Amino acid sequence: MIYYQTLKDLSSALRINSLLPSDITAAFVGRTKATGKALHSFICYDEADAMGQAKAADLRWKSGKNLSPYDGIPIGIKDMISVRNQPMACGSRMLENYISPYDATVIARLRAAGMIIWGRLNMDEFAMGSSTETSAFGPTQNPWNLSCVPGGSSGGSAAAVAAGQTCVALGTDTGGSIRQPAAFCGIVGLKPTYGRVSRYGVTAFASSLDQVGPLGRSVEDVAAILAIIGGQDSYDSTSVDIPIEDYVHASTVEKPWRVGILSEFMDGDGLDCDVAAAIGRVVQFYESHGCQIRPVSLPNVKAGLAAYYIIATAEAFSNLARFDGIRYGHRSKAATNVADIYSKSRAEGFGEEVKRRIILGAFVLSGGFHDAYYTRAQKVRSLIRSEYMRAFDDVDIILSPTTPTAAFCEHEKCEDPLAMYLNDVYTVTVNMAGLPAISIPCGFDNNHMPIGVQLIGRPFGESDLLAAARFYEKAHDFHRQHPPL
Ligand code: GLN
Repeated sequence: MIYYQTLKDLSSALRINSLLPSDITAAFVGRTKATGKALHSFICYDEADAMGQAKAADLRWKSGKNLSPYDGIPIGIKDMISVRNQPMACGSRMLENYISPYDATVIARLRAAGMIIWGRLNMDEFAMGSSTETSAFGPTQNPWNLSCVPGGSSGGSAAAVAAGQTCVALGTDTGGSIRQPAAFCGIVGLKPTYGRVSRYGVTAFASSLDQVGPLGRSVEDVAAILAIIGGQDSYDSTSVDIPIEDYVHASTVEKPWRVGILSEFMDGDGLDCDVAAAIGRVVQFYESHGCQIRPVSLPNVKAGLAAYYIIATAEAFSNLARFDGIRYGHRSKAATNVADIYSKSRAEGFGEEVKRRIILGAFVLSGGFHDAYYTRAQKVRSLIRSEYMRAFDDVDIILSPTTPTAAFCEHEKCEDPLAMYLNDVYTVTVNMAGLPAISIPCGFDNNHMPIGVQLIGRPFGESDLLAAARFYEKAHDFHRQHPPL
């Protein structure tokens, strides 16, 4: 089946001329149509546009002028990332009719490699959520069990990759939104180091935490995409001038890593026993293959979730101020004066979760509470970052579960924000410390739902991180299993 091949396989098929970009694109389009109703992973897609891009790539391959080994292979795009002349709603009514006037830097780089920009993938509204249920366009289903959530906020991206609607996709990760849905859907998701990938043209949720990254069916595939999208960008002053490496090659370099086991995350409440057992087997694997296993304790990560929800909401409160019905976004028809335009447009345009975050963000920044909440959260953030950095004196990689449980049922946590937020307990501190981390499939629970393990690396240590992940992947076949769809 073409649609379950990896990016690497498809690239090899193009190289030996056994497939053309239009065959590959047609396979993903066909698969998307066949499974689209069941999953709802795309908000929209433009078949004619994708096939047009594919036909142009066919000609390049036929004349030996392909732009890269991946020329003509589709990549799905989260609805948070600007693609010139395409809609970008960020999963929100607020931006329902918005058309992006320009390409995000990551899109421009994918285009320069000839990749086909494929569809708008569903997400939690403005990337706020862990289940894709807050999308104004309706939820996405988990391909492994249609009554479960795919995770979030990049749930559409993860479900589409798992179901063979695309072989790779872009997501964004502010507190886990690439890794958690990757874990829930049995695929690989990489959150790069803060500053590794340009955020230009990516709608801001919490600017000091947001990072774009790839989701795919193998470590090698996400390594290949990172090498394309990464690197400094003059349009994003937080992108860093550290050279991009050949991540595909670097991911094959094996060594006896010193692997730290994050103790605060291994004995915590709420860790499902199937998940704990699967993670235990990953630890055993590394140990039996010559890696040193060392316990790592980061006492302040326990405050991480609370600090994250203060910092992320404070930044969201500020970033989302631009959606006022005047500069951007839905404008209420009921408004009769300027104040009305602001309040009614925002009341109508934003969903419940986004409003909750805006109100929370306004509160933690307000005069009387700023020091008690925001300033303290920033202190916790500094402590967490320095604890991680100290830990990396003794270990090369830190290992933890990606999530406390496998995918939960639809509606199970919608009404209880705290239960939903607790899902992010293992992922958010990585963003607060700006570190790279990857989630890879490492088993199934007793309902045969996928489980992910999270590996965390040093800043800009993507090569080592990918290599450690690939070393595990090579010896297992979890990533080669597909949902019964
Ligand atoms: N689930 C987390 C939140 O709701 C993370 C979201 C994200 O990474 N975009 O904030």
